[in-house]
Amino acid sequence: MTTTHPAIRAIVFDKDGTLVSFHRTWDPAVDSALREVCEDDTMRRGLAEAIGYDITNRRVLDDSPFVAESAETLDLLVEPFADPRAFEAAVVRAGSLHAAAEPGAYVLVEALAAGGVPLAIATNDSELSATQQFTELGMVDHFVGMFGYDSGFGSKPEPGMVVAAAEAMGVPVGETAMVGDSSTDVHSGLAAGAVTVYFAPGKVDGELDEAADVTIKSLADLPAKLGLSIS
Ligand SMILES: [Mg+2]
Repeated sequence: MTTTHPAIRAIVFDKDGTLVSFHRTWDPAVDSALREVCEDDTMRRGLAEAIGYDITNRRVLDDSPFVAESAETLDLLVEPFADPRAFEAAVVRAGSLHAAAEPGAYVLVEALAAGGVPLAIATNDSELSATQQFTELGMVDHFVGMFGYDSGFGSKPEPGMVVAAAEAMGVPVGETAMVGDSSTDVHSGLAAGAVTVYFAPGKVDGELDEAADVTIKSLADLPAKLGLSIS
């Protein structure tokens, strides 16, 4: 859905599936973390199944606990197979090593930053993981702040991270866009009072398309859709 919205002066981005390519990053990263922390193949297979990782096809399954569950719940799922702290550390390390940008992410982020648009990240991943991934990708300096589930502002779909990010960027939240690929992004943006952008590079979810202020199929479309004139 496209509605009229106020002029946008700052942008909050989701990380995974929006600026960071989800499967290109996490499919190999989880595989590597499983190998690192599990003592034997039985444990590795057990942990893979518990967190929703297809060990044969080396793929994080859609709606897997690895993606959908809170860090606390994930720890409980990991516990029978490996030390949760060691697994989390291995995942963060591997996620940084394997970090891959979504097509068009570099060009967009560089153009927005060069155009003087303040940018921030709001992710349900940890602040450390986000910071390390964007450092690895060479984009970290373009962001005013990185907000994760552990930054003290709650998790999406709650509005806390979006509100905190707007504040850090010095822009009223109503003049800030929240851009993301999932329901939690759209709903955190709506709850915060931001202009919500649903990024749907694949199949468009009708309900999210309807709920969001703007829907884009490609990151390259974002500036024009938000009325930002950057080159
Ligand atoms: Mg996402």
